[in-house]
Amino acid sequence: MTTHSPNSWEARAEAHALYGFTDLPSVRERGTVVVTHGEGPYIFDTQGRKYLDSNSGLWNMVAGFDHPGLAEAAKAQYDRFPGYHAFFGRMSDQTVALSERLIEVSPWDRGKVFYTNSGSEANDTLVKMLWFMGRAEGTPAKRKILTRGNAYHGVTAVSASMTAKPYNEVFGLPLDGFIHLTCPHYWREGMEGESEAEFTARLAAELEEVINREGADTIAGFFAEPVLGAGGVIPPPEGYFQAMQAVLRKHGIPLISDEVICGFGRTGNIWGCETYDFVPDAIISSKALTAGYFPMGAVMLGPEMADRLQAAIDPIEEFPHGFTASGHPVGCAVALKAIDVVLEEGLLEAVRAGAGRMEQGLRAIAAHPNIGELRGIGYMWALEAVREGKTPFEGDLSVSERIANTCTDHGLICRPLGQSVVLCPPFTLTDGQMDEMFEKLDAALRKVF
Ligand code: PLP
Repeated sequence: MTTHSPNSWEARAEAHALYGFTDLPSVRERGTVVVTHGEGPYIFDTQGRKYLDSNSGLWNMVAGFDHPGLAEAAKAQYDRFPGYHAFFGRMSDQTVALSERLIEVSPWDRGKVFYTNSGSEANDTLVKMLWFMGRAEGTPAKRKILTRGNAYHGVTAVSASMTAKPYNEVFGLPLDGFIHLTCPHYWREGMEGESEAEFTARLAAELEEVINREGADTIAGFFAEPVLGAGGVIPPPEGYFQAMQAVLRKHGIPLISDEVICGFGRTGNIWGCETYDFVPDAIISSKALTAGYFPMGAVMLGPEMADRLQAAIDPIEEFPHGFTASGHPVGCAVALKAIDVVLEEGLLEAVRAGAGRMEQGLRAIAAHPNIGELRGIGYMWALEAVREGKTPFEGDLSVSERIANTCTDHGLICRPLGQSVVLCPPFTLTDGQMDEMFEKLDAALRKVF
Protein backbone atom coordinates (compact mmCIF):
# COMPACT_ATOMS: atom_id res chain seq x y z
CA MET A 1 0.00 0.00 0.00
CA THR A 2 1.51 3.32 -1.05
CA THR A 3 0.71 6.54 0.78
CA HIS A 4 1.19 10.01 -0.62
CA SER A 5 1.86 13.26 1.25
CA PRO A 6 -1.43 15.07 2.10
CA ASN A 7 -1.36 17.90 -0.43
CA SER A 8 0.32 16.06 -3.25
CA TRP A 9 -1.36 15.70 -6.63
CA GLU A 10 -1.55 11.98 -5.92
CA ALA A 11 -3.36 12.41 -2.58
CA ARG A 12 -5.75 14.93 -4.16
CA ALA A 13 -6.43 12.51 -7.00
CA GLU A 14 -7.21 9.74 -4.54
CA ALA A 15 -9.53 12.04 -2.58
CA HIS A 16 -11.56 13.37 -5.49
CA ALA A 17 -11.13 11.49 -8.74
CA LEU A 18 -12.56 8.19 -9.91
CA TYR A 19 -10.87 5.79 -12.29
CA GLY A 20 -12.60 3.82 -15.00
CA PHE A 21 -11.21 0.50 -16.28
CA THR A 22 -8.54 0.25 -13.58
CA ASP A 23 -7.34 -2.65 -11.48
CA LEU A 24 -7.68 -0.89 -8.12
CA PRO A 25 -5.58 -3.34 -6.05
CA SER A 26 -2.68 -2.53 -8.40
CA VAL A 27 -3.16 1.19 -7.82
CA ARG A 28 -3.40 0.71 -4.04
CA GLU A 29 -0.20 -1.26 -4.06
CA ARG A 30 1.72 0.86 -6.54
CA GLY A 31 0.32 4.33 -5.89
CA THR A 32 -1.46 6.86 -8.06
CA VAL A 33 0.38 8.36 -11.01
CA VAL A 34 -0.49 11.91 -12.03
CA VAL A 35 0.69 12.80 -15.49
CA THR A 36 1.67 16.36 -16.35
CA HIS A 37 2.99 16.53 -19.89
CA GLY A 38 4.29 14.68 -22.90
CA GLU A 39 7.04 14.87 -25.50
CA GLY A 40 6.90 12.76 -28.65
CA PRO A 41 5.90 9.28 -27.45
CA TYR A 42 6.91 9.99 -23.81
CA ILE A 43 4.79 11.12 -20.87
CA PHE A 44 6.03 12.56 -17.56
CA ASP A 45 4.52 12.42 -14.09
CA THR A 46 4.59 14.76 -11.10
CA GLN A 47 7.53 12.79 -9.65
CA GLY A 48 9.60 13.56 -12.75
CA ARG A 49 9.37 9.98 -14.00
CA LYS A 50 9.45 9.47 -17.76
CA TYR A 51 7.57 6.68 -19.55
CA LEU A 52 7.61 5.59 -23.16
CA ASP A 53 3.90 5.23 -23.90
CA SER A 54 3.62 2.29 -26.26
CA ASN A 55 -0.19 2.60 -25.89
CA SER A 56 -0.32 5.94 -27.76
CA GLY A 57 -2.55 7.20 -24.91
CA LEU A 58 -5.38 4.81 -25.77
CA TRP A 59 -4.50 4.03 -29.41
CA ASN A 60 -5.31 7.62 -30.30
CA MET A 61 -2.18 9.81 -29.94
CA VAL A 62 -0.79 8.60 -33.25
CA ALA A 63 1.37 11.70 -33.83
CA GLY A 64 2.76 11.79 -30.28
CA PHE A 65 2.03 14.21 -27.47
CA ASP A 66 3.53 17.43 -28.79
CA HIS A 67 2.75 17.77 -32.48
CA PRO A 68 2.91 21.55 -33.04
CA GLY A 69 0.65 21.58 -36.11
CA LEU A 70 -2.24 19.93 -34.28
CA ALA A 71 -2.05 22.29 -31.31
CA GLU A 72 -1.83 25.24 -33.74
CA ALA A 73 -4.86 24.05 -35.72
CA ALA A 74 -6.85 23.87 -32.46
CA LYS A 75 -5.63 27.29 -31.30
CA ALA A 76 -6.38 28.94 -34.65
CA GLN A 77 -9.93 27.55 -34.61
CA TYR A 78 -10.46 28.45 -30.93
CA ASP A 79 -9.47 32.01 -31.84
CA ARG A 80 -11.74 32.08 -34.89
CA PHE A 81 -14.85 30.26 -33.61
CA PRO A 82 -14.59 28.21 -30.44
CA GLY A 83 -17.66 26.01 -30.53
CA TYR A 84 -20.92 25.23 -32.19
CA HIS A 85 -23.15 22.32 -33.11
CA ALA A 86 -24.38 20.85 -36.37
CA PHE A 87 -28.12 21.32 -35.75
CA PHE A 88 -31.09 23.50 -36.65
CA GLY A 89 -29.90 24.12 -40.18
CA ARG A 90 -26.54 25.55 -39.10
CA MET A 91 -23.10 23.95 -39.07
CA SER A 92 -19.62 25.41 -39.09
CA ASP A 93 -17.50 25.72 -42.22
CA GLN A 94 -15.01 23.32 -40.59
CA THR A 95 -17.75 20.68 -40.22
CA VAL A 96 -18.57 21.02 -43.90
CA ALA A 97 -14.90 20.81 -44.90
CA LEU A 98 -14.26 17.74 -42.74
CA SER A 99 -17.33 15.89 -44.02
CA GLU A 100 -16.19 16.47 -47.59
CA ARG A 101 -12.65 15.34 -46.73
CA LEU A 102 -13.81 12.21 -44.90
CA ILE A 103 -15.85 11.08 -47.88
CA GLU A 104 -12.91 11.91 -50.16
CA VAL A 105 -10.65 9.53 -48.17
CA SER A 106 -13.42 6.94 -47.63
CA PRO A 107 -13.73 3.72 -49.67
CA TRP A 108 -16.79 5.21 -51.43
CA ASP A 109 -17.34 7.84 -54.10
CA ARG A 110 -20.14 9.42 -52.09
CA GLY A 111 -21.67 9.25 -48.63
CA LYS A 112 -22.62 11.26 -45.54
CA VAL A 113 -21.07 11.90 -42.11
CA PHE A 114 -22.63 12.41 -38.66
CA TYR A 115 -20.51 13.56 -35.69
CA THR A 116 -20.35 12.46 -32.05
CA ASN A 117 -17.96 13.01 -29.14
CA SER A 118 -16.65 9.45 -28.96
CA GLY A 119 -16.50 6.05 -30.59
CA SER A 120 -19.14 4.65 -28.22
CA GLU A 121 -21.56 7.36 -29.22
CA ALA A 122 -20.80 6.78 -32.89
CA ASN A 123 -21.72 3.08 -32.56
CA ASP A 124 -24.80 4.01 -30.55
CA THR A 125 -25.77 6.55 -33.20
CA LEU A 126 -25.45 4.08 -36.03
CA VAL A 127 -27.55 1.50 -34.18
CA LYS A 128 -30.24 4.16 -33.74
CA MET A 129 -29.96 4.99 -37.44
CA LEU A 130 -30.48 1.31 -38.29
CA TRP A 131 -33.52 1.10 -35.99
CA PHE A 132 -34.87 4.35 -37.45
CA MET A 133 -34.44 3.07 -41.01
CA GLY A 134 -36.02 -0.29 -40.17
CA ARG A 135 -39.15 1.37 -38.83
CA ALA A 136 -39.39 3.79 -41.75
CA GLU A 137 -39.00 0.89 -44.20
CA GLY A 138 -41.88 -1.04 -42.63
CA THR A 139 -39.54 -3.59 -40.99
CA PRO A 140 -39.65 -2.49 -37.34
CA ALA A 141 -38.53 -5.94 -36.19
CA LYS A 142 -35.12 -5.36 -37.79
CA ARG A 143 -33.41 -4.45 -34.52
CA LYS A 144 -30.94 -7.20 -33.64
CA ILE A 145 -27.27 -6.39 -33.80
CA LEU A 146 -24.57 -8.97 -34.48
CA THR A 147 -21.02 -8.59 -33.13
CA ARG A 148 -18.27 -11.06 -32.17
CA GLY A 149 -16.92 -12.50 -28.94
CA ASN A 150 -14.21 -10.29 -27.41
CA ALA A 151 -15.30 -7.34 -29.54
CA TYR A 152 -15.06 -3.88 -28.03
CA HIS A 153 -17.43 -1.24 -29.35
CA GLY A 154 -17.78 1.10 -26.39
CA VAL A 155 -19.44 1.73 -23.06
CA THR A 156 -22.83 3.37 -23.60
CA ALA A 157 -25.70 0.96 -22.89
CA VAL A 158 -26.01 0.11 -26.59
CA SER A 159 -22.31 0.00 -27.50
CA ALA A 160 -21.55 -1.93 -24.27
CA SER A 161 -24.18 -4.45 -25.38
CA MET A 162 -22.25 -4.77 -28.64
CA THR A 163 -19.03 -5.19 -26.64
CA ALA A 164 -18.70 -8.87 -25.84
CA LYS A 165 -16.81 -8.71 -22.56
CA PRO A 166 -17.86 -10.54 -19.39
CA TYR A 167 -17.34 -7.42 -17.24
CA ASN A 168 -20.54 -5.93 -18.65
CA GLU A 169 -22.54 -8.49 -16.67
CA VAL A 170 -22.18 -6.19 -13.64
CA PHE A 171 -24.49 -3.78 -15.46
CA GLY A 172 -26.98 -6.46 -16.47
CA LEU A 173 -25.82 -6.13 -20.08
CA PRO A 174 -26.05 -6.98 -22.92
CA LEU A 175 -29.53 -5.71 -23.63
CA ASP A 176 -31.79 -8.13 -25.49
CA GLY A 177 -31.18 -8.45 -29.19
CA PHE A 178 -27.37 -8.12 -29.15
CA ILE A 179 -25.89 -11.38 -30.40
CA HIS A 180 -22.21 -12.25 -30.06
CA LEU A 181 -20.76 -14.67 -32.60
CA THR A 182 -17.51 -16.60 -32.21
CA CYS A 183 -14.38 -14.49 -31.85
CA PRO A 184 -12.32 -14.95 -35.05
CA HIS A 185 -9.17 -15.87 -33.13
CA TYR A 186 -7.71 -18.91 -34.86
CA TRP A 187 -5.01 -19.57 -32.22
CA ARG A 188 -7.60 -19.79 -29.43
CA GLU A 189 -10.82 -20.83 -31.18
CA GLY A 190 -9.50 -23.02 -34.00
CA MET A 191 -10.23 -26.72 -33.51
CA GLU A 192 -7.69 -29.51 -33.47
CA GLY A 193 -6.59 -30.18 -37.05
CA GLU A 194 -8.67 -27.32 -38.49
CA SER A 195 -6.88 -25.14 -41.07
CA GLU A 196 -7.25 -21.37 -40.99
CA ALA A 197 -9.41 -21.50 -44.14
CA GLU A 198 -11.63 -24.17 -42.53
CA PHE A 199 -11.91 -22.01 -39.40
CA THR A 200 -13.09 -19.09 -41.57
CA ALA A 201 -15.63 -21.33 -43.31
CA ARG A 202 -16.92 -22.48 -39.90
CA LEU A 203 -17.41 -18.87 -38.75
CA ALA A 204 -19.26 -17.98 -41.97
CA ALA A 205 -21.47 -21.06 -41.49
CA GLU A 206 -22.16 -19.98 -37.91
CA LEU A 207 -23.19 -16.54 -39.16
CA GLU A 208 -25.59 -18.11 -41.66
CA GLU A 209 -27.04 -20.40 -38.97
CA VAL A 210 -27.63 -17.45 -36.64
CA ILE A 211 -29.32 -15.47 -39.42
CA ASN A 212 -31.55 -18.44 -40.28
CA ARG A 213 -32.36 -19.07 -36.62
CA GLU A 214 -33.16 -15.44 -35.77
CA GLY A 215 -34.63 -14.50 -39.17
CA ALA A 216 -32.90 -12.02 -41.49
CA ASP A 217 -35.90 -9.71 -41.07
CA THR A 218 -34.96 -9.26 -37.38
CA ILE A 219 -31.30 -8.34 -37.92
CA ALA A 220 -30.30 -4.71 -38.45
CA GLY A 221 -26.55 -5.03 -38.92
CA PHE A 222 -23.24 -6.78 -38.29
CA PHE A 223 -20.49 -4.68 -36.67
CA ALA A 224 -16.85 -5.74 -36.73
CA GLU A 225 -13.45 -4.24 -36.01
CA PRO A 226 -11.08 -5.16 -38.89
CA VAL A 227 -8.58 -6.19 -36.20
CA LEU A 228 -10.14 -6.68 -32.77
CA GLY A 229 -8.28 -4.15 -30.65
CA ALA A 230 -9.30 -4.21 -27.00
CA GLY A 231 -10.05 -7.92 -27.48
CA GLY A 232 -6.26 -8.33 -27.54
CA VAL A 233 -5.21 -7.40 -31.11
CA ILE A 234 -6.78 -10.21 -33.10
CA PRO A 235 -6.29 -9.99 -36.86
CA PRO A 236 -8.93 -11.89 -38.85
CA PRO A 237 -8.18 -15.35 -40.25
CA GLU A 238 -7.58 -15.78 -43.95
CA GLY A 239 -10.53 -14.73 -46.15
CA TYR A 240 -12.68 -13.87 -43.12
CA PHE A 241 -14.31 -10.62 -44.23
CA GLN A 242 -14.96 -11.89 -47.76
CA ALA A 243 -16.69 -15.00 -46.39
CA MET A 244 -18.72 -13.06 -43.82
CA GLN A 245 -19.71 -10.34 -46.28
CA ALA A 246 -20.92 -12.91 -48.82
CA VAL A 247 -23.34 -14.31 -46.21
CA LEU A 248 -24.45 -10.85 -45.08
CA ARG A 249 -25.08 -9.72 -48.66
CA LYS A 250 -27.17 -12.79 -49.37
CA HIS A 251 -29.46 -11.79 -46.49
CA GLY A 252 -29.38 -8.02 -47.08
CA ILE A 253 -27.61 -7.26 -43.78
CA PRO A 254 -25.20 -4.30 -43.69
CA LEU A 255 -21.55 -4.80 -42.69
CA ILE A 256 -20.24 -2.00 -40.50
CA SER A 257 -16.51 -1.58 -40.02
CA ASP A 258 -15.70 -0.21 -36.57
CA GLU A 259 -12.49 1.62 -37.45
CA VAL A 260 -12.12 3.45 -34.13
CA ILE A 261 -8.70 1.82 -33.67
CA CYS A 262 -7.79 0.69 -37.18
CA GLY A 263 -8.79 3.90 -38.99
CA PHE A 264 -6.19 6.44 -40.07
CA GLY A 265 -3.16 4.28 -40.34
CA ARG A 266 -2.87 1.76 -37.50
CA THR A 267 -2.81 -1.22 -39.91
CA GLY A 268 -0.60 0.58 -42.47
CA ASN A 269 -3.47 1.82 -44.67
CA ILE A 270 -5.92 4.59 -44.03
CA TRP A 271 -8.64 2.02 -43.21
CA GLY A 272 -8.48 -1.47 -41.78
CA CYS A 273 -11.07 -2.51 -44.38
CA GLU A 274 -8.57 -1.48 -47.06
CA THR A 275 -5.92 -3.69 -45.45
CA TYR A 276 -8.34 -6.64 -45.39
CA ASP A 277 -9.79 -5.81 -48.79
CA PHE A 278 -13.49 -5.30 -48.16
CA VAL A 279 -15.83 -2.36 -48.65
CA PRO A 280 -18.19 -1.91 -45.71
CA ASP A 281 -21.60 -0.25 -45.80
CA ALA A 282 -20.62 2.19 -43.04
CA ILE A 283 -17.56 3.12 -40.99
CA ILE A 284 -17.29 4.12 -37.34
CA SER A 285 -14.37 6.44 -36.67
CA SER A 286 -12.81 8.15 -33.66
CA LYS A 287 -9.42 8.21 -31.83
CA ALA A 288 -6.85 8.89 -34.61
CA LEU A 289 -9.53 10.90 -36.43
CA THR A 290 -8.20 13.85 -34.40
CA ALA A 291 -4.86 12.20 -33.52
CA GLY A 292 -6.29 12.28 -29.99
CA TYR A 293 -6.11 16.10 -29.80
CA PHE A 294 -9.90 16.50 -29.49
CA PRO A 295 -12.61 14.05 -28.40
CA MET A 296 -14.63 13.27 -31.49
CA GLY A 297 -16.30 10.38 -33.30
CA ALA A 298 -17.90 10.07 -36.70
CA VAL A 299 -20.45 7.80 -38.34
CA MET A 300 -19.60 7.57 -42.03
CA LEU A 301 -22.35 6.20 -44.25
CA GLY A 302 -21.60 4.74 -47.65
CA PRO A 303 -23.90 5.53 -50.60
CA GLU A 304 -26.60 2.93 -49.92
CA MET A 305 -26.83 3.65 -46.20
CA ALA A 306 -26.83 7.40 -46.82
CA ASP A 307 -29.73 6.96 -49.26
CA ARG A 308 -31.61 4.67 -46.87
CA LEU A 309 -31.22 7.18 -44.05
CA GLN A 310 -32.36 10.04 -46.28
CA ALA A 311 -35.43 8.06 -47.37
CA ALA A 312 -36.23 7.40 -43.69
CA ILE A 313 -35.81 11.08 -42.83
CA ASP A 314 -37.98 12.33 -45.72
CA PRO A 315 -41.44 11.49 -44.30
CA ILE A 316 -40.78 13.20 -40.94
CA GLU A 317 -38.20 15.65 -42.31
CA GLU A 318 -35.91 15.27 -39.31
CA PHE A 319 -33.40 12.87 -37.78
CA PRO A 320 -34.11 13.46 -34.08
CA HIS A 321 -30.67 12.69 -32.66
CA GLY A 322 -27.41 14.53 -31.89
CA PHE A 323 -25.04 15.74 -29.18
CA THR A 324 -24.47 19.33 -28.09
CA ALA A 325 -20.98 19.26 -29.53
CA SER A 326 -21.76 17.21 -32.69
CA GLY A 327 -19.53 18.62 -35.43
CA HIS A 328 -17.64 20.91 -33.02
CA PRO A 329 -15.63 23.30 -35.22
CA VAL A 330 -12.41 22.91 -33.19
CA GLY A 331 -12.70 19.11 -33.39
CA CYS A 332 -13.31 19.35 -37.12
CA ALA A 333 -10.36 21.71 -37.66
CA VAL A 334 -8.13 19.37 -35.65
CA ALA A 335 -9.39 16.35 -37.60
CA LEU A 336 -8.68 18.09 -40.92
CA LYS A 337 -5.14 18.72 -39.73
CA ALA A 338 -4.79 15.17 -38.33
CA ILE A 339 -5.76 13.68 -41.69
CA ASP A 340 -3.09 15.85 -43.34
CA VAL A 341 -0.55 14.80 -40.72
CA VAL A 342 -1.23 11.10 -41.34
CA LEU A 343 -1.45 11.35 -45.12
CA GLU A 344 1.00 14.13 -45.91
CA GLU A 345 3.64 13.93 -43.19
CA GLY A 346 4.47 10.35 -44.09
CA LEU A 347 2.87 8.60 -41.11
CA LEU A 348 1.22 5.89 -43.22
CA GLU A 349 4.59 5.19 -44.81
CA ALA A 350 6.18 5.22 -41.34
CA VAL A 351 3.81 2.50 -40.15
CA ARG A 352 4.36 0.44 -43.29
CA ALA A 353 8.12 0.80 -43.01
CA GLY A 354 8.22 0.25 -39.24
CA ALA A 355 5.82 -2.68 -39.08
CA GLY A 356 8.40 -5.23 -40.26
CA ARG A 357 10.96 -3.91 -37.78
CA MET A 358 8.38 -4.07 -35.02
CA GLU A 359 7.41 -7.63 -35.89
CA GLN A 360 11.04 -8.70 -36.03
CA GLY A 361 11.89 -7.14 -32.67
CA LEU A 362 8.81 -8.61 -31.00
CA ARG A 363 9.38 -12.02 -32.59
CA ALA A 364 12.78 -12.18 -30.89
CA ILE A 365 11.10 -11.38 -27.55
CA ALA A 366 8.27 -13.85 -28.28
CA ALA A 367 10.84 -16.69 -28.36
CA HIS A 368 10.51 -16.58 -24.55
CA PRO A 369 8.98 -19.89 -23.30
CA ASN A 370 6.13 -17.99 -21.60
CA ILE A 371 4.95 -16.32 -24.79
CA GLY A 372 2.47 -18.45 -26.72
CA GLU A 373 1.52 -16.23 -29.61
CA LEU A 374 2.69 -13.02 -31.22
CA ARG A 375 0.00 -11.47 -33.39
CA GLY A 376 -0.63 -8.15 -35.04
CA ILE A 377 -0.18 -5.97 -38.06
CA GLY A 378 1.13 -2.46 -38.70
CA TYR A 379 1.58 -0.75 -35.33
CA MET A 380 -0.74 -2.96 -33.26
CA TRP A 381 0.73 -6.09 -31.68
CA ALA A 382 0.04 -8.44 -28.80
CA LEU A 383 2.14 -11.02 -27.01
CA GLU A 384 0.05 -13.72 -25.37
CA ALA A 385 1.48 -15.01 -22.09
CA VAL A 386 1.23 -18.77 -21.50
CA ARG A 387 2.46 -21.27 -18.95
CA GLU A 388 5.61 -23.15 -19.84
CA GLY A 389 4.56 -25.91 -22.20
CA LYS A 390 2.39 -23.29 -23.97
CA THR A 391 -0.84 -23.98 -22.07
CA PRO A 392 -2.97 -20.85 -21.58
CA PHE A 393 -3.22 -19.03 -18.24
CA GLU A 394 -6.97 -19.73 -18.38
CA GLY A 395 -8.78 -17.47 -15.94
CA ASP A 396 -5.60 -15.87 -14.55
CA LEU A 397 -5.50 -12.33 -15.85
CA SER A 398 -2.98 -11.18 -13.27
CA VAL A 399 -0.06 -12.39 -15.36
CA SER A 400 -0.47 -9.73 -18.06
CA GLU A 401 -1.14 -7.16 -15.32
CA ARG A 402 2.16 -8.17 -13.70
CA ILE A 403 4.04 -7.85 -16.99
CA ALA A 404 2.51 -4.44 -17.68
CA ASN A 405 3.27 -3.22 -14.13
CA THR A 406 6.86 -4.41 -14.42
CA CYS A 407 7.13 -2.62 -17.78
CA THR A 408 5.87 0.55 -16.06
CA ASP A 409 8.61 0.12 -13.43
CA HIS A 410 11.06 0.05 -16.34
CA GLY A 411 9.54 3.22 -17.81
CA LEU A 412 7.43 1.56 -20.51
CA ILE A 413 3.65 1.79 -20.66
CA CYS A 414 1.95 -1.13 -22.37
CA ARG A 415 -1.52 -2.56 -21.91
CA PRO A 416 -2.58 -5.83 -20.32
CA LEU A 417 -5.56 -7.23 -22.21
CA GLY A 418 -6.74 -10.68 -21.19
CA GLN A 419 -3.57 -12.75 -20.96
CA SER A 420 -1.86 -10.53 -23.54
CA VAL A 421 0.32 -7.50 -23.40
CA VAL A 422 -0.45 -5.02 -26.16
CA LEU A 423 1.87 -2.54 -27.87
CA CYS A 424 0.40 0.10 -30.17
CA PRO A 425 2.89 2.98 -30.33
CA PRO A 426 2.52 6.35 -32.02
CA PHE A 427 3.32 6.32 -35.73
CA THR A 428 6.09 8.88 -35.10
CA LEU A 429 8.17 6.41 -33.07
CA THR A 430 11.85 6.53 -34.09
CA ASP A 431 13.99 3.41 -34.53
CA GLY A 432 15.82 4.28 -31.32
CA GLN A 433 12.55 4.57 -29.40
CA MET A 434 11.36 1.27 -30.86
CA ASP A 435 14.58 -0.39 -29.64
CA GLU A 436 14.02 1.15 -26.21
CA MET A 437 10.50 -0.37 -26.22
CA PHE A 438 11.92 -3.84 -27.06
CA GLU A 439 14.64 -3.59 -24.39
CA LYS A 440 12.24 -2.56 -21.66
CA LEU A 441 9.67 -5.18 -22.57
CA ASP A 442 12.31 -7.91 -22.70
CA ALA A 443 13.73 -6.85 -19.32
CA ALA A 444 10.23 -6.87 -17.79
CA LEU A 445 9.43 -10.33 -19.16
CA ARG A 446 12.68 -11.71 -17.79
CA LYS A 447 11.84 -10.29 -14.41
CA VAL A 448 8.28 -11.70 -14.32
CA PHE A 449 9.13 -15.20 -15.55
N1 PLP B 1 -14.92 0.97 -30.96
C1 PLP B 1 -13.67 0.48 -30.83
C2 PLP B 1 -13.15 -0.50 -31.84
C3 PLP B 1 -12.85 0.91 -29.77
O1 PLP B 1 -11.63 0.40 -29.62
C4 PLP B 1 -13.37 1.87 -28.87
C5 PLP B 1 -12.54 2.36 -27.76
O2 PLP B 1 -11.46 1.90 -27.49
C6 PLP B 1 -14.67 2.33 -29.05
C7 PLP B 1 -15.41 1.87 -30.12
C8 PLP B 1 -15.27 3.30 -28.09
O3 PLP B 1 -14.69 4.54 -28.27
P1 PLP B 1 -14.73 5.63 -27.08
O4 PLP B 1 -13.84 5.11 -26.00
O5 PLP B 1 -14.21 6.86 -27.75
O6 PLP B 1 -16.14 5.76 -26.67
